Amino acid sequence: MKKVLLALLICCGIGITFAQKTYLYCGAIIDTKKGASYAQKTIIVTNNKIEAVLDGYVPTKASTDVIIDLKDKVVMPGLIDMHVHIEQEFGPSTRLQKYILNEADVAFNSVGFAKTTLLHGFTTVRDLGGTGVNIAVRNAINAGKIPGPRVYTAGKSLATTGGHADPTNGSSRILIGNPGPKEGVVNSVDDAKKAVRQRYKNGADCIKITATGGVLSVAKSGDNPQFTIEEIKAICATAKDYGMHVAAHAHGDEGMQRAILGGVKTIEHGTYMSEETMNLMMEHDVYLVPTITAGKEVEEKAKVAGYYPDIVVPKALKVGPQIQGTFAKAYKKGVGIAFGTDAGVFRHGDNNKEFRFMVDAGMPAMETIQSATITNAKILKMENEIGQINKGFYADIIAVNQDPTKQIATMENVVFVMKDGVVYKQ
Ligand SMILES: [Zn+2]
Repeated sequence: MKKVLLALLICCGIGITFAQKTYLYCGAIIDTKKGASYAQKTIIVTNNKIEAVLDGYVPTKASTDVIIDLKDKVVMPGLIDMHVHIEQEFGPSTRLQKYILNEADVAFNSVGFAKTTLLHGFTTVRDLGGTGVNIAVRNAINAGKIPGPRVYTAGKSLATTGGHADPTNGSSRILIGNPGPKEGVVNSVDDAKKAVRQRYKNGADCIKITATGGVLSVAKSGDNPQFTIEEIKAICATAKDYGMHVAAHAHGDEGMQRAILGGVKTIEHGTYMSEETMNLMMEHDVYLVPTITAGKEVEEKAKVAGYYPDIVVPKALKVGPQIQGTFAKAYKKGVGIAFGTDAGVFRHGDNNKEFRFMVDAGMPAMETIQSATITNAKILKMENEIGQINKGFYADIIAVNQDPTKQIATMENVVFVMKDGVVYKQ
């Protein structure tokens, strides 16, 4: 009889009646959809989802329920960074690492970067290019083997020969080889289709192209156009067939215009964007991913002797200081802004500085948070799952000490992180 009772208790008690719930008592909650904050709320989390958001501090119902006291915190949805490189952290030895690290080394490095990113409040990121190890990192995070944000990855970026993401750029003649679409190097419309399909086969979620020259590649131009519009059109059309959107790295105006007309969804950096291109962005519903933090970093590090190869230094000194100003103009004009930092160009975990840089450039604090939540969720087609604290959404929840609309620097000190209903930082 006792055994039967116990079995019943286990069956009904743990399995059904007393499913453990977490009650988060929040001093204030930021409603990212309304762009407003509300005092004294309770969030009830069951498994990995938000079950309810209620007024006041609601008492628990079962002895198994857990209370998390955030009564002196400001609570908001987990942040989304649209531009990171989870595999790497740039430094003076980066060029050498390309030749001495094996994939396993890259993977182990990524484990630390992914954890750091999550602990700074970024519960979702879009990885815009590495060696392709980022796909395995995403899978390991999704399988619960390592802690990290939800990752949407481009795998390996697409470039043209000698372009910003040509993997053998800057190598000696014996190592320079002739990489093709399989390694992400495209020189025709056919190559473009093949390279996108290869990314799909490898397991990428989106496509990244380097539409113009870039700062950190060992090449002379940081802004020249590097694809024909036909190649970009072929990339975007093929990506669409596989349900993927395209992100375009671009500093120069001509390459940016080709990317927008070719069908990309986001322009990364956008440094030398003209007014005409800003209008084109709005016309084609293309978002700017500002990466101001990366601009500041390259400008600063270019002044340290030997930090970058000589050929990179003038590009970094020219591009770096311009990025924040372009963001300010584009925001003022009404271009859609998708929060993104280029973490990996600088230390992972410094992503949060971007909020302050955006506010300094004229974007109201609440809008920077909306950019890092609902806007980015929409681009990822996850607007009904992430980016809001609302019933049915994933329990991706973070907290800071102060009201960010009064003190934006508080975003640089995320004190609580829950992702998928699991607490990672408290
Ligand atoms: Zn980047």
